[in-house]
Amino acid sequence: MTENGWYCGRCRYWHRPDKKKGEIGQCRRHPPQVVAEDLGDIETEWPETYSDDWCGDFEATADR
Ligand code: SF4
Repeated sequence: MTENGWYCGRCRYWHRPDKKKGEIGQCRRHPPQVVAEDLGDIETEWPETYSDDWCGDFEATADR
């Protein structure tokens, strides 16, 4: 957790689809990014962050 109270766990853009992954969630501030998989496959993924990460695009949500 940061001194300024900014952290992904209380950001409106943070989404945690799999509660079993603990404190890891997805940042959905921007569209998913294209990533190259094995055998030349292309997929899209949202960046994963820990709940105590943060960035300058943080926006607080009232329900966390
Ligand atoms: S990376 Fe930034 S925009 Fe994304 S969830 Fe964390 S604080 Fe919010």
